[in-house]
Amino acid sequence: MEISAANILNRCPLFYRGAQGCRDEYISHMKVSIDPRQDCTSCGLCWSDCPDIFEEAHDDNLSRIVEKLRVGGDVSIGEAPESLRASAQSAADGCPVSIIHVE
Ligand code: SF4
Repeated sequence: MEISAANILNRCPLFYRGAQGCRDEYISHMKVSIDPRQDCTSCGLCWSDCPDIFEEAHDDNLSRIVEKLRVGGDVSIGEAPESLRASAQSAADGCPVSIIHVE
């Protein structure tokens, strides 16, 4: 089989996430967590500073990891591309209850 970008994308097990999701498999990631999530005050800083990673949950109004970045479906644990580290760290530094962790 010819090795081409199109063939690699078409064979990627994460193709359903779209081409960007597939390419993200080949770049380094960082772990982001909201722990303990129940201590969130819903101030909104994290999802304002870093909407690529955080969002407000509609059921309990607490912060959660956006669905496409969650690990094992857990709303409080995610893996995000290193390119988002600065904004994730800004959210962690600004969180009034210090429950955002970036590793
Ligand atoms: S910055 Fe902290 S307290 Fe504010 S919404 Fe985000 S997780 Fe909750």
